[in-house]
Amino acid sequence: MSEVILKNVGKIYPNKVEAVRDVSLTIEDKEFVVFVGPSGCGKSTLLRCIAGLEEVTSGEIIIERRVVNDIHPKDRDIAMVFQNYALYPHMNVYDNISFGLKTRGYSKDEIHERVMDAVRILGIEEYLKSKPRELSGGQRQRVAIGRAIVRHPKVFLFDEPLSNLDAKMRVSMRSEISKLHKTLGVTMIYVTHDQTEAMTMGDRIVVIDRGEIRQVADPHTLYFKPENLFTASFIGSPQMNVFPGKIKNKSFQGDYFTISFKNNIPDVESAVIGVRPEDISLTEGTFKLKGEVDLAESLGDVTFLHVKLEKQLVIIKTTLEKRFSIGEEISFFPNADKMHLFGSEDGKRIEF
Ligand code: ADP
Repeated sequence: MSEVILKNVGKIYPNKVEAVRDVSLTIEDKEFVVFVGPSGCGKSTLLRCIAGLEEVTSGEIIIERRVVNDIHPKDRDIAMVFQNYALYPHMNVYDNISFGLKTRGYSKDEIHERVMDAVRILGIEEYLKSKPRELSGGQRQRVAIGRAIVRHPKVFLFDEPLSNLDAKMRVSMRSEISKLHKTLGVTMIYVTHDQTEAMTMGDRIVVIDRGEIRQVADPHTLYFKPENLFTASFIGSPQMNVFPGKIKNKSFQGDYFTISFKNNIPDVESAVIGVRPEDISLTEGTFKLKGEVDLAESLGDVTFLHVKLEKQLVIIKTTLEKRFSIGEEISFFPNADKMHLFGSEDGKRIEF
């Protein structure tokens, strides 16, 4: 059972930066968990603490029922893949992949078998004699993954492994790593700042903000039921629109619209309604708003319209095949059934 348990983990760097605060989380055996959050939120620090590359300041890290706080990284049964590949430039692919096994004293036959297995899984058999500089970014990253695979670790840790690749290669490596997870059937923890990567890869996603977990959920729940305003705004591109207002007498009273709720909701001095760009229609909806087109970004099949609504911009995602001109006045219709309500003070979701 390669389960990873984090118990009240905290990390304060010597410069007093509190990078991780009271993180508790259980990562199940064979699960693919993604840590996602904006740059500087502490996700790499947390991963490095699991790897043993950073010491935790408080709390416990348990890998396979063993507290590993005081266990050296190489004895933790984990393998880590980094963004910069960290390959030895003077060694060929075979030697790069086998290096870790040689230093651990495996027999030549065992090493050969493991390396050949790994390169077959990764489809890089033909590059065994190549040096890293002769390979593309994607191939180098495969070699780095190969080096992790041959160790037969209990847990794979990935730290932004695709950030140095071009957009197309990122997409294809994304699905390769997902497939690899299925083939190997091991626990993987993957760090990224890219919410699309997180949403497409993770069985469960851990949303981190300023060193703390904001929500842990599967991609569908995160998108459709964000527990707080941070998650709601971070997940989804373009971002969810937010309209400020207050809750009074069972209704949301905003600057531009009022919505009455059926359920009894306590008054809240400051609240926001969130509506995703695709939940605002140009043809029909719960109520009508009017604004001026500020920008129209057409991707062919969809258009992202930025509409000026007095003090704020509203982003609308539409599949309507129409040319929009800047400055044009348009009507748009938010769908009240798809709205999210949050308190502004604590950012927490309010069910209605
Ligand atoms: P992320 O991976 O989410 O971008 P990091 O874990 O790298 O975030 O960093 C979290 C915070 O800790 C940041 O404020 C960063 O500046 C700080 N930090 C990271 N590494 C160190 C370090 N070695 N020493 C001091 N502060 C650090």
